[in-house]
Amino acid sequence: MRPYYDDPYTTEFKANVTECISREDGFAALLDNSYFYPTSGGQEHDIGFIGQEEVADVIEEEGRVLHIVTRKIPIGEAECRIDRKRRVGNMQQHTGQHMLSAAFDSLFGIETVSSRLGEYIGSIDLSRQPTEAEISQAVEAVNMVIRENRPITVHYAEPGDVGSFHLRKPPKVDGTVRIIDVKDFDMSACGGTHCTHTSEIGVVLTGNVEKVKGALTRIEFFCGERAIRRYYEMFRSAHESSRLISAGIDDLPVAVQKIKTQIQERDSRIKDLSGKILESICERAVQRVEGTDESLVVVDLSSEIENTEDMRFVGSCVSKRTKKSFAFHRTEGNISYMNLNLAFEESLATSVMSALRSELGVKGGGRGGYFSITFEASEKEKVVEFVRSKVGNG
Ligand SMILES: [Zn+2]
Repeated sequence: MRPYYDDPYTTEFKANVTECISREDGFAALLDNSYFYPTSGGQEHDIGFIGQEEVADVIEEEGRVLHIVTRKIPIGEAECRIDRKRRVGNMQQHTGQHMLSAAFDSLFGIETVSSRLGEYIGSIDLSRQPTEAEISQAVEAVNMVIRENRPITVHYAEPGDVGSFHLRKPPKVDGTVRIIDVKDFDMSACGGTHCTHTSEIGVVLTGNVEKVKGALTRIEFFCGERAIRRYYEMFRSAHESSRLISAGIDDLPVAVQKIKTQIQERDSRIKDLSGKILESICERAVQRVEGTDESLVVVDLSSEIENTEDMRFVGSCVSKRTKKSFAFHRTEGNISYMNLNLAFEESLATSVMSALRSELGVKGGGRGGYFSITFEASEKEKVVEFVRSKVGNG
């Protein structure tokens, strides 16, 4: 029987250090009577002090509670102190979880399949997705019972007697079962630390809802102090957003929607204008290709075109309007992008492309004599000369 089972609020106590064992992560101190809670049953461990030594972790190994410290603690009596804020936060979060799960179960027959308490955010996985109205009703029911300040008592049932308690879920342990009884609301088997009256939880709020595996739905929750912390985090975030877009907090959804619509309209106008600009670049490129006697017209489009997609568009557009060979290119950092139009018989064009790949290591491809390729920018002259020699022969 652990002392915190029936006395979760004692956080300062005297105990004897009976052993202090050296181990990889420091030392493990053992106490003859410890109120420190070891990580178990989804609840986080306590932290605190044994004498002057900080307890960073508390774990259970082979039935013994080990207090992990960095320096060896002498055998004998020591003043012990548990971080009360963290302990009470865990109790609020844990008791709130029992009650939230109980509310979903009794009101809507939605089972809690698993739960996580965490150091700040808790969550439960429900057997099906509740509606927003169901979530509100469950939260309201829990907070009503919290305000009624009902007692929360602990029972110990021997295996043969467990059936006389109306447990929400069957117990997972053999032997004596510890039962947490929120008066006329929930009975659950659990080994964690809980509040002794419902009002000690303060408040229970839910957060994000997300689908997880199959029909399972995960709902975040925050109890007591953590609910207050969460409220202020969200308030600050909403307040800052409202300042940035000069709208009241309550008007944020409408204001954000308005900005989103404006952005969409602007994007669509930019797209129209870009299309016109590209057409005009294409027009000039056709004139450059047509207005020369060179067998291969090489044009650097780096200053006119910002991305490869646009260059491909211009290249493709020009290839449909000329019977001449051209190479449009632009360089980004160490890489050159080229759109190559080889205006001669297709099988010959394809063999030139193959040779470019095998002899100069260019990447990419295409068909119908029109190719999109990339290569190291330093290779540009070589690529151009190679193509020029082939075109000269074509
Ligand atoms: Zn519990």
